[in-house]
Amino acid sequence: MNEKPLQVLLVEDNVGDARLLREAFRAERAGSFELTHLVRMSEAVVHLAKGGVDIALLDLGLPDAHDLDAVRRAHAVAPDVPLIVLTGLNDEALATQAIKEGSQDYLIKGQIENRALPRALRHAIERQRMQAELIKASEELKKLDEMKSNFISIAAHELRTPMTSIKNAVDLILTKKTGDLTREQEQFLLMAQRNINRLNGLVGDLLNISKIESGKFELLLAKIDLKQLIEGALITLRPLAEKKFLPLHLNYSVEVPALRADAGKIEQVLINLINNSIKFTPESGVITVDVHQMENVPDMPDGVLGYVEISVADNGIGIPEEHRQHLFEKFYQVEGSLSQKERGGTGLGLAISKGIIEAHGGKIWFENNEGKGSKFNFTLPIVDVEQDCFTLKNELSKAKLKTLPLSVLILNVSNMESLLKSHNEMGNEQVLNIVKERIVSFGIKATDKIAVSPLTNEIILIVPDTDKLGAQALLKRIFHNISAQKAALGDCFHSIIASIATYSEDGTSDKELIEFARGEIKKQTNKLSAGQAARDKKRVLIVDDETDILESIKFTLEQEGIECIVALDGEDALAKAKKEMPDLVLLDVMLPKMNGYKVSRLLKFDEAFKQIPIIMLTARAQERDRQVGAESGANEYLTKPFEMAELVALVKKYTDV
Ligand code: ADP
Repeated sequence: MNEKPLQVLLVEDNVGDARLLREAFRAERAGSFELTHLVRMSEAVVHLAKGGVDIALLDLGLPDAHDLDAVRRAHAVAPDVPLIVLTGLNDEALATQAIKEGSQDYLIKGQIENRALPRALRHAIERQRMQAELIKASEELKKLDEMKSNFISIAAHELRTPMTSIKNAVDLILTKKTGDLTREQEQFLLMAQRNINRLNGLVGDLLNISKIESGKFELLLAKIDLKQLIEGALITLRPLAEKKFLPLHLNYSVEVPALRADAGKIEQVLINLINNSIKFTPESGVITVDVHQMENVPDMPDGVLGYVEISVADNGIGIPEEHRQHLFEKFYQVEGSLSQKERGGTGLGLAISKGIIEAHGGKIWFENNEGKGSKFNFTLPIVDVEQDCFTLKNELSKAKLKTLPLSVLILNVSNMESLLKSHNEMGNEQVLNIVKERIVSFGIKATDKIAVSPLTNEIILIVPDTDKLGAQALLKRIFHNISAQKAALGDCFHSIIASIATYSEDGTSDKELIEFARGEIKKQTNKLSAGQAARDKKRVLIVDDETDILESIKFTLEQEGIECIVALDGEDALAKAKKEMPDLVLLDVMLPKMNGYKVSRLLKFDEAFKQIPIIMLTARAQERDRQVGAESGANEYLTKPFEMAELVALVKKYTDV
């Protein structure tokens, strides 16, 4: 075999030691090793930088490199070359440290057997090669995992929109507003509804897990009443527990203080744990939720005053010890405990719970419940809840420190009712959260902070390092994206009013900035209601291609305090009717581009506009024309030339003026 000799670099200042080491290669086949001996590290660095070295043997006591210097310098110029440290008996500790810093091995001088040295070199080279392969493989796995997470997130988002419309449609049919249903139809639709809800839950879980994994998980921190939260979760799950005759107990120690946490997310954890206990506990078992404050916790982070421990214990089927370390991994389920059908679920609940608790600065773990059943425990930190729970203060002090601008965007959902209507059965907090989620999914920066404030119906976005212009551009983008999502969210975005407050021009403290932004919102709301008051005047759309007639009608109606909009052809009429939502349309029949009958038909057959009354104006007085007019949906038919007084009377009749 004609293998290339291994290039060995020996850096050793002791000539005797160097000779002994050379000896060690004597017994090897000629041409299998080629040794370069250098005395100083500075020479070694130059030699290594040239490349071609397969392995380096480094003495730790060189004239120009002490302790681990030699290792670090060699590693810096040739990170892929395996290193072996040569050491005297008395600095073995240092050699161990060298291993931690990346050396492959250490050899103690005077103890090296001749045959052992070449073997040690070959092994070190092989280990280094395997390590490099492992690192490469793990990087590839990481990349794959990231791609998979991204895919899950995109797929889940894409699924949400069509699912929402399927859900809305099924829910609507089930209300029977669209007509009666037979018993079978209702049963099948209920089945569809149950499965859509399940699918919704699954997609929600997938989105949660991908957010946790990508670090985009947002918490809405507020002062919470933990007891109330647990009682709420117990009320939700009691009917399920009662089906299996399982009592749900709560032991709550009175000393537990108020906490700062994301109520919705903590409730999600509680529901998951209690729900699991119900699922995995046979009839006549017991489930207990226990809450107490932990005593003497060592090494608490800054600002943490203590911890509350919450546990959910059952005396159900339990979990064998070997599963303990995997329980909180995503998609992990204990095989064999229950059939997949009985188990249900996806194995995401505990992984999400872990993400939620850790994001709060707490821990979650499992233990056997005294030999029978399971006990899941989690902790939440106790902090000073009176401290501003919103991060604006923090962000502002960072901005001040770095003399950077900072903007606060407030989106006020002024017409919450219409939002709630388009999301039946949801509270305003949930709806705000959906809007918030939309905004997050369009892509805000990782440093931006977003929160909803259900009390004031606001979504608040803090954008560090962004001046007013930047914030305006962001707001524009948000509105653009939101309106593109109208189908999924209902047509309620016209009612979102937004404002921007920028540090330092609009205020220098958190309170000043929030007040400024709210003040701007108020100004806009006032303007809007003034506009609506103006619109309280009735609005009439006059459609005629003869400008003289048009102007005279317009003039007469305006004298009566009626607002007039005009259109000169059929297409324009249709567009303006849809845009301006008039209270009445005066419609000529003979129009360019689209005749009046067609305009009338198109409006009257559109759910959104069919209630707008239409008065047809035409010179044709024959009976047949009247009939066509009536069939196209017109409410009245006025023959030209008509008396203005007659027209005014009709307009007033239809607009309640
Ligand atoms: P899921 O309940 O959707 O399967 P989880 O992540 O919540 O997902 O739980 C993962 C697995 O842990 C369950 O499938 C079950 O095997 C086991 N497990 C969780 N809680 C309990 C419990 N209280 N008793 C027994 N097994 C449990």
